[in-house]
Amino acid sequence: MSNQRIWSATIALTLLAAAGAAFAQDVTVLDAARLFDGHAVIDKARVVIRDGKVIAAGPQAAVAVPAGARRVDLADRFVMPGMVTAHSHVGMVQGLDVGGHNYSRQTVGRDLAQFQRYGVVAVNALGMNAELFHTLRREWRDGAHGGADLYGAGGGVGAVDGAPPARMKPPGSVMRPTTPQDARKAVDAMADAGVDMIKVWVDDLNGQAPKMPPEVYAAAIDQAHRRGLKAAVHIHALADAKGVVRAGADVIGHGVRDMPVDDEFTTLLRERGVWYIPTVNINEAEYIYAEHPQWLKDPFFRMAMTPALEAQLNDAQWRKTALDKAQPSRAAVSMNIDNLRRVHAAGGKIAFGTDSGVTPLRIPGFAEHLELAHFVQAGLTPVEALTAATASSAAVMGLKDRGCLQVGCRADLLVLGADPTLDITASRSIEAVWRNGVPVAR
Ligand SMILES: [Zn+2]
Repeated sequence: MSNQRIWSATIALTLLAAAGAAFAQDVTVLDAARLFDGHAVIDKARVVIRDGKVIAAGPQAAVAVPAGARRVDLADRFVMPGMVTAHSHVGMVQGLDVGGHNYSRQTVGRDLAQFQRYGVVAVNALGMNAELFHTLRREWRDGAHGGADLYGAGGGVGAVDGAPPARMKPPGSVMRPTTPQDARKAVDAMADAGVDMIKVWVDDLNGQAPKMPPEVYAAAIDQAHRRGLKAAVHIHALADAKGVVRAGADVIGHGVRDMPVDDEFTTLLRERGVWYIPTVNINEAEYIYAEHPQWLKDPFFRMAMTPALEAQLNDAQWRKTALDKAQPSRAAVSMNIDNLRRVHAAGGKIAFGTDSGVTPLRIPGFAEHLELAHFVQAGLTPVEALTAATASSAAVMGLKDRGCLQVGCRADLLVLGADPTLDITASRSIEAVWRNGVPVAR
C-alpha cells in the first residue's frame, strides 16, 4: 500500500471521526478488500451502515450503494467485527499493585479504554468486581464512554479460605458460601444487583487451599439457571471440570491443565453444549515478557506500557527470577494448548478469553492478540480463531448484535492493514476501531 493511499484513508477516517454523531443518522458505505463477518470471509466486500447498525453486507457485486451514502474506500484493507472477550477482568491493577482496593471508575474506565484501543469492544469481567461494577456496567453499554462495553459476573462465588486466593486481595463482593443454601443466596444477591453471568471458583490452588464442595457449586449453578443466568466455572483440574459440567455448568472458564482431557470429558462438553474458554495467556503471562520477545519494542505492544511495568520488564533481577521459576507455567501452557486441540478436534464449542486485567502482566487488549495465535497453534484455522473471538464469545454472553457484521449487527468493527485469515498475527495491524458506525480516537 502506498503512502498516498494510507494518507487518503487516514484523512477519510479522521473526517468521519470529526463529524462524529452528526453523521450517525446518515448512511456510510465501507468497501474493503476482504471482510470477516463473524462467520465467513467475503472478498471485495461492502458494509452499509445506518444509525450505528449494519443494514447490508456482502460482496460489492451484490450490495447496492444507497443514494447519498458516504463512502469509505478500504480497497486494500481487511475489516472484521470488534472482538469480544468472554473472560477478562477490570479495575484490579494500579501500577504493579493488585487488588479489589484498586477498583474505581478511573481504573475500570482505563482498562475498558485500553481493551477498545486493542480492538476489543465488549468485555465480560468474570468475577472480582467491586460493588461499583453494577453502576459502571449500566453506563458502559453503548460506546459512549470511550471504551469497551462492560458486562460481567459481579463479585462471584468463591471458596472459604480458597479461590480466588487472598493474595489477589479480591474485593469484598466475592461471596464465599459454606452451604448449598448460602450458595443460592449468594447467587440471588448477584442476580438482584444485576449481572450477566454467575462466576464460580472450583480449584484447590495446587493442593494449597480448600476447594468448594460439589454440593455447594451444584447449588450455585442450579440457582444461576433458576435466575436465567449462565454459570461460568473456574477450574484447573480435569476431575473438577467433569464435576461442574455434570452439575450443569454452561462455561468452563479456563483450560484443563493438570492432565490430558479424555473422551469422557470432550463427549460431556459436546453433548451438553458447554463452552470451553482455555485462557492460555493466564500462564504464559508469567514468563513471556521476561523473555523479551522482539515485539516488546513494537508500538502495538508499547500502547499498553506504563512506567511501572516498563521498569519491571527491564529489571534484570525480576527477569531472572521469572525465568528461573517459569517451568510449571510453560508446562501449563503446553498442556492447555494440547487440550484445546483435543476439545476442538472432538467438536467442542470454543469461546475466547484470557483472564487479562487481573495482574499487571495479564495485559488488557494485548493478551487477546497473543491468545488468537495460541488458538491457531492448537489447530484452529485463523477463521475459527477469529470466530471464537467474535461471534462465539458474543453467543456465550447472549449478545446477538455483537461479534458480527451482518444485517442487524452493531457496526463495531476493526480496520486492519493485513489479513488475519492468512496470518493470525495480522490481528495486530489495527488501523482503526469503529464503534456504532463511527471511528473512535485511539
Ligand atoms: Zn478470571
